[in-house]
Amino acid sequence: MSYQTSEVLMDSICHCGRNAVKRTAWTDLNPGRRYSACEKFREVGGCCYFVWIDPPMCTRARQIIPGLLKKVNKLENNLKQVNKLENDMKQLEDDLKRKRSREKYLWFALVLSWSIMYLFM
Ligand SMILES: [Zn+2]
Repeated sequence: MSYQTSEVLMDSICHCGRNAVKRTAWTDLNPGRRYSACEKFREVGGCCYFVWIDPPMCTRARQIIPGLLKKVNKLENNLKQVNKLENDMKQLEDDLKRKRSREKYLWFALVLSWSIMYLFM
């Protein structure tokens, strides 16, 4: 089956009989540009079906988008670190609660044992 997009005629089935899959390129030259390629494109025994879906990007977009993507990736990594630190902190707080309740129990046992010793002296 073939269908028309903005500029190109695309096939949903590659001429080799496998599926043609739509993907998005995230290279510096084509950031966010969609393409259709054979599911075995560039693989051993695959084929070379490859068609751009979107038109080429303008020079300004090619200059700006990679920098924005790097910033987004950096912020996402920072967010992952913050989430990991929050989880670590929650675990430490839970550990601290457990240790405090054990400490209370030990104090109670100590006071009780002293009281019993005092009664028998
Ligand atoms: Zn193919």
